[in-house]
Amino acid sequence: MRSAGTQKGMKIAVIGGGLMGLWPALDLAQAGASVAVFEAADAPRGASWAAAGMLAPLGEAIEGAGASAGLPAFGVYGLECWRQRAAVFARAGLDIGWRAKGSLLLGAPDAAAGLYAEWAQKAAGLGLEAHVLDGAALHRKAPHLAKNFKAGLWVPGEASVDPRLVLSALRAMFTAAGGVYQSGCAVTRLRIRGGKVCGVMLADGTAFDADSVIVAAGYESGAIEGVPVEPLIPVKGQMLALCVPPEGVPDAVIRAEGAYIVPRSGAPGRVIVGATSAPHCADSHIDPQVSEDLRSKAIAVLPDLAKAKVLSSWSGVRPRFADGRPRIGPCHGANAPQGLYVNAGHYRNGVLQAPASAQILSALIMGAADGPFAKDFYPPAC
Ligand SMILES: Cc1cc2nc3c(=O)[nH]c(=O)nc-3n(C[C@H](O)[C@H](O)[C@H](O)COP(=O)(O)OP(=O)(O)OC[C@H]3O[C@@H](n4cnc5c(N)ncnc54)[C@H](O)[C@@H]3O)c2cc1C
Repeated sequence: MRSAGTQKGMKIAVIGGGLMGLWPALDLAQAGASVAVFEAADAPRGASWAAAGMLAPLGEAIEGAGASAGLPAFGVYGLECWRQRAAVFARAGLDIGWRAKGSLLLGAPDAAAGLYAEWAQKAAGLGLEAHVLDGAALHRKAPHLAKNFKAGLWVPGEASVDPRLVLSALRAMFTAAGGVYQSGCAVTRLRIRGGKVCGVMLADGTAFDADSVIVAAGYESGAIEGVPVEPLIPVKGQMLALCVPPEGVPDAVIRAEGAYIVPRSGAPGRVIVGATSAPHCADSHIDPQVSEDLRSKAIAVLPDLAKAKVLSSWSGVRPRFADGRPRIGPCHGANAPQGLYVNAGHYRNGVLQAPASAQILSALIMGAADGPFAKDFYPPAC
């Protein structure tokens, strides 16, 4: 991607090597900017690494987390952007675990068809195809599903990725485009001169010069000295991976009450089960009882999972602003230094929204024409 608006060689520092840092970093590097990503951790362990990877705007719209103005539509746009970008990864020979096999949305096992008709209406409002399935059609679609489910909603257009593969693929493309990725390298503060950012200060005392800075430090974005962003609420989520025989891996993502089950491609057969949600919690402790609860909830949906071995458990911290909306755009207002951008607070939908957010941010920095949602998630003036 090259744009006449990009000042070739413009120096950009990105704080954070998760999806919100790496993806705009890639777009900007490919546009001819000189981009460095600073990641505090030695190895990826942020929300992007921990995520399930569902690209599921309808599920989120229904569960309410995405219900604030414009967010469900932004999710649908995110899915559209994903389809285009998945093809780019495929052409580059990079595996991102892309599965465009739809989602099955389930209420309580005995939920009446009326509930699914209501969800189908929401889908139609978002322009998403969805079909209410009666019991027979549901069990034909998901033969391993617990027999007590009487109906469900099938959303063929939703998809999933393996976020850990996505991070590796982005990093490979970013470095191939000339970008510099420094892990184990925390940014301690912004450097500001004459009301404009001029770089960042690193934990080892090195001053790095930059014309623009993107803050994408997940739930810690508001904690960096000089960054005028409201504090974020950390929301911890615990997950687990189960090893299942390939024939036991469901085709579609299954979202049920209390747990979702996300199939992964490749051998051995694997499904991801998630997730808990603990606001104001940012530790990485794995509670075995919580893992067992998640496993039981998954077994109530797919009984064959009772025979599945637990491969691993992990946790991650979702970044959430108080209003549940992401901040994508320039910091502005009397107290904001020029040249400072933020891409943070994507809460439960960051994987879904990552390519769309990157597109908005990189177009803005490159001076390209506004695309969809260009100004909808600007940070409040400060
Ligand atoms: C359990 C779980 C399941 C999820 N499932 C889904 C899903 O299925 N679909 C979906 O769309 N979304 C999902 N999400 C949400 C999604 O993962 C997040 O919204 C998204 O990954 C946030 O990305 P980020 O880059 O802002 O944050 P992160 O991935 O956390 O990246 C921020 C990075 O900044 C680094 N950093 C922090 N401070 C500094 C500093 N001072 N200097 C340098 N680096 C710093 C951190 O080390 C970190 O690597 C899930 C999240 C969790 C936790």
